[in-house]
Amino acid sequence: MLDVIDIGDRSLAAYRGVAPDEQLEELVRVSQRLRGARILHLNATSYGGGVSEILRSCVPLLRDLGLQAEWKIIRGDDAFFQITKRLHNGLQGAPGELSETEKALYLGNAQLNAPHLAEGYDFVIVHDPQPAAIAGLARHRGSRWIWRCHIDTAHPNPAIWEFLTPYLAAYDAAVFTLENFIPPHFPIRRVAIIPPAIDPLSPKNLALPKALARHILEWIGVRLDQPLITQVSRFDKWKDPLGVVASYRLVRQLIPQLQLALVSSMALDDPEAWDIYEKVRADTAGDPLIHVFTNLVGVGNVEVNAFQSLSDVVIQKSLREGFGLVVSEALWKGTPVVAGRVGGIPMQMPPGTGGILVDSIEECAEALLHLLRHPRISRALGESGRERVRHHFLMPRLLLDELLLLERLSG
Ligand code: UDP
Repeated sequence: MLDVIDIGDRSLAAYRGVAPDEQLEELVRVSQRLRGARILHLNATSYGGGVSEILRSCVPLLRDLGLQAEWKIIRGDDAFFQITKRLHNGLQGAPGELSETEKALYLGNAQLNAPHLAEGYDFVIVHDPQPAAIAGLARHRGSRWIWRCHIDTAHPNPAIWEFLTPYLAAYDAAVFTLENFIPPHFPIRRVAIIPPAIDPLSPKNLALPKALARHILEWIGVRLDQPLITQVSRFDKWKDPLGVVASYRLVRQLIPQLQLALVSSMALDDPEAWDIYEKVRADTAGDPLIHVFTNLVGVGNVEVNAFQSLSDVVIQKSLREGFGLVVSEALWKGTPVVAGRVGGIPMQMPPGTGGILVDSIEECAEALLHLLRHPRISRALGESGRERVRHHFLMPRLLLDELLLLERLSG
């Protein structure tokens, strides 16, 4: 019933010269102490969004380090994912409650999935709210259960939070991206703060030769003789795609040739995306300078890489953001970012590093204009952002923090 996700092999040795040496060395030492440990990562989707992005790199690297790591996804139908999307939104503060029937459906999904979890894991890491109720039902003796929360739970909607809390009480530890995401009255005693990270060697992040990147974007209709700004994000209200279009229109009054690309992948567990996609389509229809691309028309990792590499500025105008891998992805390519001052974004772009943080459509437009008009400043910001990512937000650092937590839990 649970789907096991296939992934290729990776080798930590390939990260030498890319990630900091001391992180790689420490990672090898810690993994030797945990050698042979069985680790299961459990989440809701194999495609779309940051969690699947991370697991696709993290699980094979754990194997390379001598651990027995697996990645499984729970099954769920549309009704279940409608409910979990509301849980997700509620955890980020959106109003609304679940009906008794919806609560029963959420629990029913965990009851269906839990019996299919094999026993014998030393650690089970459950990502986000969709599979969260499984721990209480499937707790195997000897396993340590960790709830890894990727979303901004600093101010959850109280009704949703109250609903989820009893399920979380079954965990041995929790991981948040930021200290202030730990909600009030949190039921798990052990909490670690571990920001996510990107994989510098994935097809999305490795250095594309410039000519190839240009070819890829021209192939899909982007003009590289005109300036380009891009937001790469799921169609989600917290990513504010309509706000991006509004900011872009303000800038275009002054730079009439400016193109905007909105690049989005439609995640399997995100039913709301279609409504937002339709709204964006309606708002931008007939404008030849606004490009809307999705994975459904073949715009995947390599195209995202080309957009993040060649855009003059990348935007991430989030209104709430757990972390925002896309920010580190763009900075890693030396591209400056204009981003919402929310959640996990400011830690990637401290003052004077990486780009400009904004709080409104107008500020976003102003920052875009500034960077488009000052290429030297843009370049310097992009370069400082890349160094920040190298030291703090590459996959070996994430693995190291996670393994140190597992080691503490097994002690
Ligand atoms: N992504 C992608 N194609 C798209 C849109 C997003 O591959 O069209 C990827 C993006 O590159 C990033 C992840 O999905 O790796 C999104 O992670 P992030 O943390 O930014 O946001 P989330 O979707 O998890 O809220």
